[in-house]
Amino acid sequence: SLKAGIVGLPNVGKSTLFNAVVENGKAQAANFPFCTIEPNVGIVAVPDSRLHVLSDLSKSQRSVPASIEFVDIAGLVKGASQGEGLGNKFLSHIREVDSILQVVRCFEDNDIVHVSGKVDPKSDIDVINLELVFSDLDQIEKRIEKLKKGKARDSQSKLKEEAEKSALEKIQQVLMDGKPARSVTLTDFESDAVKHLCLLTMKPIIYVANVAETDLADPANNNFVKDVTNVASELQSRIVTISAQVEAELTELPTEEREEYLQSLGVSESGLGNLIRATYDLLGLRTYFTSGEKETKAWTILSGMTAPQAAGVIHSDFEKGFIRAETVSYDDFVAAGSLGAAREKGLLRSEGKEYVVQEGDVMLFRFNV
Ligand code: GDP
Repeated sequence: SLKAGIVGLPNVGKSTLFNAVVENGKAQAANFPFCTIEPNVGIVAVPDSRLHVLSDLSKSQRSVPASIEFVDIAGLVKGASQGEGLGNKFLSHIREVDSILQVVRCFEDNDIVHVSGKVDPKSDIDVINLELVFSDLDQIEKRIEKLKKGKARDSQSKLKEEAEKSALEKIQQVLMDGKPARSVTLTDFESDAVKHLCLLTMKPIIYVANVAETDLADPANNNFVKDVTNVASELQSRIVTISAQVEAELTELPTEEREEYLQSLGVSESGLGNLIRATYDLLGLRTYFTSGEKETKAWTILSGMTAPQAAGVIHSDFEKGFIRAETVSYDDFVAAGSLGAAREKGLLRSEGKEYVVQEGDVMLFRFNV
């Protein structure tokens, strides 16, 4: 599954958030057949109300949500790209994730030391951003040196190397100004050519503003949150507000007391669902469903995938032997009440190899084995 890495300076609430995400996932594990958990890796369900609607209509024995993997990447400090702390090790962990969640401290608490002496979200973001920028610059420099030696054997790979070099030079310029690689506009060919480097500042990022419980009801009123919002929009990134502390406390409360606690804080629901959903969207992911008596299941695909590729997510044999897909939109399925009824009403379409799967499609694949 796709991975989101939680990063941030020390004492901003990363572990608290990570544990809340994992505990929340465990609480749901009774219904879900997964949840493998390593100390710093947790697989969590992506909340989706459509899953339960379909599952009820199909009288499924179980329902299986889409999932994403959260990784707690502790230890990023100022100077990491220079090898401070466990520096480069942490940066290499970030290289492996598909997206980054940076927790930014927006709560004040004199008992909890802030590494740079005071709560200052803009500076925290700059510090981490610069470490990622330095690391990318370092990598790009080495790569350009290598490319200059020009080992390409044929004209095709020569073209590709040239595209890579020109893209890297563009990115280098932007990084020198302290801006992320993702702010550079590249052609598809160039993007492809630099993909293998897994540049850190190319990864999409969400800023998670960790606020005090008293700020949950109206976070926009908090000046720290305002700062984060401004920086996020400059860096073409999103912000999600959450209170890690509250989320941690919620996981310890019996279900029937949670609502009351949330109400006392002036909010209607836990922020975790929102955070998980935002992460899923950030990755450009789409969901389609299979739904029958045995199970209703949400499958994750990338935007733009065709029916055979989507089938391949279930099993590679489905892709190889793909014949066609019987497809109905979520809304049509619900209106008809079942796959059978949708078929009778002519709402079930027979789609071929070229069909681009749409968000919420309910699909039944026909394939040769
Ligand atoms: P990490 O170093 O970023 O992983 O930070 P931790 O999650 O270990 O949190 C550091 C300290 O801050 C712990 O004592 C937490 O209980 C506390 N903390 C985390 N989130 C909040 C919060 O939203 N409000 C307050 N007051 N304390 C928090």
